[in-house]
Order: sequence, then C-alpha cells, then structure tokens
Amino acid sequence: ARTFFVGGNFKMNGSKESLTQIVDTLNKADLPANVEVVIAPPAPYIPLVVSENTQKTVEVSAQNVFDKASGAYTGEISPQQLKDLGATWTLTGHSERRTIIKESDEFVADKTKFALDSGIKVILCIGETLEERKAGVTIEVCARQLDAVSKIVSDWTNIVVAYEPVWAIGTGLAATPEDAQDTHKDIRAHLTKTIGAEQAEKVRILYGGSVNGKNAPEFRDKADVDGFLVGGASLKPEFIDIIRSRL
Ligand code: 13P
Repeated sequence: ARTFFVGGNFKMNGSKESLTQIVDTLNKADLPANVEVVIAPPAPYIPLVVSENTQKTVEVSAQNVFDKASGAYTGEISPQQLKDLGATWTLTGHSERRTIIKESDEFVADKTKFALDSGIKVILCIGETLEERKAGVTIEVCARQLDAVSKIVSDWTNIVVAYEPVWAIGTGLAATPEDAQDTHKDIRAHLTKTIGAEQAEKVRILYGGSVNGKNAPEFRDKADVDGFLVGGASLKPEFIDIIRSRL
C-alpha cells in the first residue's frame, strides 16, 4: 500500500508572522501517524519553518531548485543549499513555473535529476492546460512531461508525481474524483511502460487543483489518488482537514 501524502504549496505567500502562525496551527493539530505531510514555503522562510516545525510527520520542501551545486547562477538556489537549511524535498515543474517562467520539460527533468542525485526528494508536477484538455491530449501531455524525466532518471523511489490540471489550479473548479482517477490510472499505466510495473505500482500520484477541506474526502475511494498537492487551502486551518481526510 502507498502511504497517503499531502503537500502544501504556499506559493509566493506569507510573512514571518503568518507562516509562524500556520506552522503553530499544524504543531497543535492531531495529525495521523500514517500520513506524510510536506509543506513548501517561499525559499527565504525555509529556515523559519524548519525550526518552528515540531511534527515528526511534517517535512519541509522548496518550491523550485536549480540543477547546479554552486557558482555564478544569480538568483538560483541549489539542492545542497536546501539541504543545508533543513529542507528534504523540492517541487519541480509546477505549472506556474512551466508557463510563467517558461521552464521546458528538459530543464524540469535536469533539475529533478540533480535534486535526486543530491539527496533531495522531488514532487514532480505535471498536468495539461484547458486547451490541451479540450483537444483531448491530457495523457499525451502528462506522458511527455514524465518521459523527459524517465529518460534520465531510472530510480523513482524518491519521486512523488503531482497531477495538477492547469484549469483546476486556483479556480475553485477541482477535477471530479472520477476524472482525477481516470487520469491517475492513465499516468500509472504510462509509467508501467517507462519505469516498469514494480516502480509504477509504488509511486505516489497526488491530485492538485482547488483541493479543500470539503472536497478532499470525496477522493477517498479512488485507488490511484494517493494524496493531494494543495495550494490556497494549505494556508488555512482546513489544511488539517485535508491531512485527516482519509481517517
Ligand atoms: P490551489 O489548491 O490553490 O488550486 O493550487 C494548487 C496548486 O497549484 C498546488 O501546487
């Protein structure tokens, strides 16, 4: 059985005060021992969140990482530096970085590989836009984004895949549990072909896009939905309801 996983992507939100408050709320919560939780504050706040967190099941992630250890790369942050700050995870390939910052599939794959090789675990984000959905190419897009990674990464032990359809992010229009399950199943079937059945069976596939405390329990009987990547609601107390949604 795959361990249920809930990620909180704070995006470019928060201050010392508000993030201390969020971590404090998490610290006081009764979190299930069998749910893996990862929170991703903006990079400058990683040390604060690491030092404030007292929950054993909660780890800290970056939202992005670079594919070099050090050097003349102004504005970038290496996985070695993330480790130094106490982060154990990073996101790669979030749609906001793919679309706004124009990161290519290959660059996302390079960063994913370098983070893994450096000992940082990766939440690899994939997903189609509304236009791609309407054109019926959802699985082709996801497969292309995954293939860039599987071409250069053979060991997927420390990768969690987050399926985040772009049209569902921040819109309040979450995918239905049935639609999410269908796509997750297609994603796992594709991974079976590229990384092998044994690894594909083990990799967690998270759903992300307008997940909240109310809709999270509706995904509970979906066999290939192994958790969530939460944006907006991860900044609110209902994040705890999402973590507890499988109880
Ligand atoms: P929302 O939960 O705000 O829709 O964001 C999802 C997301 O992008 C998480 O990475």
